[in-house]
Amino acid sequence: MKIHEYQGKEILREFGVPTPRGVACFSADEALTAAQQLGGKVWVVKAQIHAGGRGKGGGVKVAKSLDEVIQFARQILGMQLVTHQTGPAGQQVRRLLIEEGAAIAKEFYVGMVVDRVAQRVALLASSEGGMEIEEVAKNAPEKIHTVRIDPVAGLNANEASEVVRAIGIPDVANAEAVQVLQGLYRAFVEKDAMLAEINPLILTADNRVVALDAKFNFDSNALYRHSEIVAMRDLDEEDPAEIEASKFDLSYISLDGDIGCLVNGAGLAMATMDIIKLYGGSPANFLDVGGGATTEKVTEAFKLMLKNPHLKAILVNIFGGIMKCDVIAEGVVAAARQVHLTVPLVVRLEGTNVDLGKKILADSGLPIISGNDMADAAQKVVAAAKEAI
Ligand code: ADP
Ligand code: MG
Repeated sequence: MKIHEYQGKEILREFGVPTPRGVACFSADEALTAAQQLGGKVWVVKAQIHAGGRGKGGGVKVAKSLDEVIQFARQILGMQLVTHQTGPAGQQVRRLLIEEGAAIAKEFYVGMVVDRVAQRVALLASSEGGMEIEEVAKNAPEKIHTVRIDPVAGLNANEASEVVRAIGIPDVANAEAVQVLQGLYRAFVEKDAMLAEINPLILTADNRVVALDAKFNFDSNALYRHSEIVAMRDLDEEDPAEIEASKFDLSYISLDGDIGCLVNGAGLAMATMDIIKLYGGSPANFLDVGGGATTEKVTEAFKLMLKNPHLKAILVNIFGGIMKCDVIAEGVVAAARQVHLTVPLVVRLEGTNVDLGKKILADSGLPIISGNDMADAAQKVVAAAKEAI
């Protein structure tokens, strides 16, 4: 689960990481009041969306007067902000952060992610702050310093201090930068983050170390023990189909192809998407209905897939292990009737009671195309989607 920058900064402050003072706003009027409250002469008006690259896309503006604060707030609120992380459609801006302007001497990058191979949290730090870290990794990988943190000892001050020196933060600011890294690590662990990133971390003209940006992504499997993080969820930033799916306990991810997939089990769902690709098609979604799929769940799954305007065909691929093929066949038939299916439907069943399941599909009178095995079903659904063009 992702959160906004201003929420990320609240967490950073809680763990002793210095940030500029700022106020979250929903209107230009609120932005003006916030700027007045903050005082000073320079403010930064920042679009709050769950994507980076806002600066380049025109979503971060430096205002040198209260008039400019209002002007930029009006400009940015409501805009469809396109960044390299939003995709071409962009994301609508509904919230702003009005923040005091910082005097930047130099920008750095620090971030933490789970390194699954090392089974540790990896700290990444670079002198090349403010840019896309992916570009730095590609063009100048030697400029990224990595520490894989011992989970028992935590991030010790010596290790942190060495990294701080390696990325070129001067010794006068070393102690404060070490505190930032240790605070970030504690926040990462205590809040069950999967990613935490400060880009840029800046050195100010008077040698202070301040987090100018904050990005967090939390492990959704651990949200049950973080009601304070769940309270930060902004549904406007999430895919409506995925929100709808989560209500019915369906694991659903929107993709940009045109073949809907309804599968039981995440591994089989991945294999189904692969085989669709292998035969020249493109999946419209990942969908795992889980082990205990009921007719209601299957119906909701069909409804979800059919909301996608690009959908051209559906492949149902079920292995009846715990779930019996006849039960799923009845679910598919009932769901197909209820949603008045408008696209070709290919069904491949295998496992317990498969013959009975196939008979139910055949007797239903619905134009269901039966797939004998995965390869056959995939080829049939790809062909059906191509014909539908
Ligand atoms: P994004 O990463 O989405 O582009 P950032 O928060 O990193 O957004 O802001 C982009 C750039 O804007 C920063 O690299 C920094 O140069 C500048 N900036 C952001 N916040 C401030 C601030 N409070 N004061 C001065 N400059 C800022
Ligand atoms: Mg940034």
